Amino acid sequence: MVDNTQEPCNRLSYFGGYMKGTYNLPAPGKLESVRKLMNTWLVPNATQIPEDRLPALVRDQEAWRQSFPEVPLGAGDSAELLVEMRDDLRRMLGGGSGWPESFQRWLERFPPTVDVVTSAEATMVRHAPHPGSGVAGWMLAVIVDAIADETWFRLKRCPDCQWVFYDRTRSRTKVWCDMLAGDAGGRSCGTIAKVRRYRERQTP
Ligand SMILES: [Zn+2]
Repeated sequence: MVDNTQEPCNRLSYFGGYMKGTYNLPAPGKLESVRKLMNTWLVPNATQIPEDRLPALVRDQEAWRQSFPEVPLGAGDSAELLVEMRDDLRRMLGGGSGWPESFQRWLERFPPTVDVVTSAEATMVRHAPHPGSGVAGWMLAVIVDAIADETWFRLKRCPDCQWVFYDRTRSRTKVWCDMLAGDAGGRSCGTIAKVRRYRERQTP
């Protein structure tokens, strides 16, 4: 029996996306670069040893440009600063206690500017990084807008493998990253809990 109850509107199964795992679907627009930054800390399946790829990326301008083509590396962007910010951003996911205070502190350090953007469709207020605020300023400006349009709250940290994924389910209730054994990462997150829930539904 196919269990369709978890994601009633998951159209990804049409092209096999769900079966391959949805853990690496991009977040919309610039938020994808924020997600990528958060995943520079990861636990590779092959080793199961946490790995931090950010310091090497900050040192290698070419590697940085390839990974984050739309985010210019500023003169003040040290690995130390960006690791600190990334780790705080990871802790913000899932609404962990104290996240508004932590975010407030970052905004006070790197306040974004506010622009009124007029297009044929609409007039909107958008945030932009303050000149010279580097990667931190860029990321924070994107997050302010993502909090306003609520896409930020679709970013989740898998409680199993710690991977940051974008939850595209209508109900916004996805917990695990859906990395499956057949994926490149080769693990299967949340399986035992999913099976347990499935069994609970079978009991009257
Ligand atoms: Zn996972």
